[in-house]
Amino acid sequence: MARNPRFNILFEPVRIGPVTAPNRFYQVPHASGMTNALPQVRAKFRGVKAEGGWGVVCTGAVSIHPSSDDSPLPFASLWDDKDIRAHALMTDAVHEHGSLAGVELWHGGACTLNRTSRLAPISPSGMPWLSTHLGFMGNLRPRSMDAADIQDLLKWQAAGARRAMQAGFDIVYVYAGMGYLPYEFLLPEYNHRTDAYGGSIENRVRLVRELLEVTRDAVGDKCGVALRISLEELRGKPGRDAPSEAHEVVALLADIPDLWDVKMDSSPTDCAPSRFASEGSHEPVINFVKSLTTKPVVGVGRFTSPDVMVSQVKRGILDLIGGARPSIADPFLPRKIDEGREHEIRECIGCNICISSWHDGVPVRCTQNPTAGEEWRRDWHPERFAPPTSDANVLIVGGGPAGLECAVTLARRGYQVTLADAAKEFGGRLRFETRLPGLATWGRVSDWRLSQLRERPNVNLYPGSELGVDDILGLEHSHVVIATGARWTKMLFSTLEFPVGELDIPCVYTPDDIAAGVVPRGPVVVFDFDNYYMAGAIAEQLAPQVGDVTYVTTAGNASAWTFMTNELPLVHRALGNAGVPIHTLQRVTAFDGESVTLSDVYSGAEKRLPCRSLVIVGMRKPRAELHDALLHRAADLQAAGIGSVTRIGDSLAPGAIVHAVHSGHRFAREFQAPPQELPYNRDFPI
Ligand code: ADP
Ligand code: SF4
Repeated sequence: MARNPRFNILFEPVRIGPVTAPNRFYQVPHASGMTNALPQVRAKFRGVKAEGGWGVVCTGAVSIHPSSDDSPLPFASLWDDKDIRAHALMTDAVHEHGSLAGVELWHGGACTLNRTSRLAPISPSGMPWLSTHLGFMGNLRPRSMDAADIQDLLKWQAAGARRAMQAGFDIVYVYAGMGYLPYEFLLPEYNHRTDAYGGSIENRVRLVRELLEVTRDAVGDKCGVALRISLEELRGKPGRDAPSEAHEVVALLADIPDLWDVKMDSSPTDCAPSRFASEGSHEPVINFVKSLTTKPVVGVGRFTSPDVMVSQVKRGILDLIGGARPSIADPFLPRKIDEGREHEIRECIGCNICISSWHDGVPVRCTQNPTAGEEWRRDWHPERFAPPTSDANVLIVGGGPAGLECAVTLARRGYQVTLADAAKEFGGRLRFETRLPGLATWGRVSDWRLSQLRERPNVNLYPGSELGVDDILGLEHSHVVIATGARWTKMLFSTLEFPVGELDIPCVYTPDDIAAGVVPRGPVVVFDFDNYYMAGAIAEQLAPQVGDVTYVTTAGNASAWTFMTNELPLVHRALGNAGVPIHTLQRVTAFDGESVTLSDVYSGAEKRLPCRSLVIVGMRKPRAELHDALLHRAADLQAAGIGSVTRIGDSLAPGAIVHAVHSGHRFAREFQAPPQELPYNRDFPI
């Protein structure tokens, strides 16, 4: 198909100093969990994005010196020449498709605690970066940099830039954002210096200017020099002769970098979850930059709509459309627009599971794109599939995320697929969860898969079809996949985390009851030890309906695991706004229909809350009856010509949507493929 001329502007080349981006699709630096120890995994992950049409593909943070050591969080390095080859694999993979490769040279300053290198962290004035992220906290405070330290930093940046050039990068970054060292110099709260690098805004900008200059000197006319800068805090500070200090900083550096890469300051605002922020949420902070520089500007905002992208360019907000999450969810986003297939874009849902992978210290995972991080490891290409090895026809029972993904992937391979679900609509858990506050965007998981399935002649869809064992035996399929999901239980746990049995008495509910339309009588207590989004979202949903809803958790925060997805502070805010009191570090030990007894998880001290309805959001169990019943009919299965019965997704092991999608995808990729000794290829440092 031909490209819609409306989107032609997105395919114009853009000059970035001495190099030219072939189009306006720019994969900005983003964490991938792929350190120099995973050079093949990293090269393929980035190379596939270039193949998918991203005109520029960047690394994540690349440390320039052991004094910038973020361990145990993953980061790459260019500390000496031995690091060059690992990066050259990536630049080759990107160049193979005609794209430019960018490198985010990085010094974390007081943000990094140098747990491995054991060097004292460096900072402008010895001020620690007081992270509210408990997992990143340490108890080593940074030291102040003296004049010699500043000269060392400039030398490290220059050496990093030279090595980056040798590794084949086309764009080399100075990174002054997100709390990292050059950013700390920009802010008076962290920079108390009385020398030429502190005080006035001109002095606070000096280090960034010098970093840009040494980078330019190092790369000459071979590479573009980019400045990545966070502007949220500076935009909130009134300027002397300008609307804000952000305006002053941009004006002072205006045309020194070849490219401005502008962003927010903290992970929850920079990489805002869709639950609390919409596409283009950075615009109010960064919309002025182009008025103060003649150099191109790139920014992000979870852009997946080509019309929104065109509007950003035409309204003079951005020159290059930055994408991190949209490029993970669909590495082929630009190609699809280019080929008039924009309706096929697998849009990012803004769940931030990708960020959680970095917080977990592992290679990136994505809810929408199960091939992310698996391009080399499992040889999963996002758009290419092994052809079928037989004329098998596969029945999939259950059309939630696992069943839908399994069906799409088997169908793309060319197998005959039948997908049945008891419910009138496909989507499984998403039918309910997308109606919870802020979660509508997650419906893209089922929308994309259903639109793919509906286009394919080798797919039969049967909604409203509850299947039992005898139905399945009579349907004449050669293989059966069970994707019937999981159920929430009323299980409670002891302080030692032992399951102590289900609280199966009247007025105790689970999310399945709320999904089925039960509106519990108030006062309601929502008791959470699942710790992801479900309990917080249910409390937020019930509060206006019921009036008196209290949230109780065994953890130290509401929806504690959402710390991993940048949602935690916003969950607390949302519960506050909904008037839901939060009780942390409490376990429910008894409920009598009038009150609930809570016990402090550490001291055991008890308290009671008025409660007529208790919603337990804790443990899930696979809905495995159908699978187990089928396996009991071995002779009948054989007689019916059913060669295999396999469980996937939550009906195998309950998890988040990302796990269900991966499980469904993996089954489809490995279906009738030769067995492998290990589930994936192992990568090794060069
Ligand atoms: P997952 O996350 O693993 O995809 P979900 O719970 O989201 O699981 O989806 C499971 C789906 O399976 C639900 O839509 C449910 O209606 C469907 N289902 C469960 N049992 C049957 C059955 N016997 N026949 C058809 N569909 C079923
Ligand atoms: Fe988007 Fe979620 Fe995938 Fe991240 S994990 S890229 S937020 S869909």
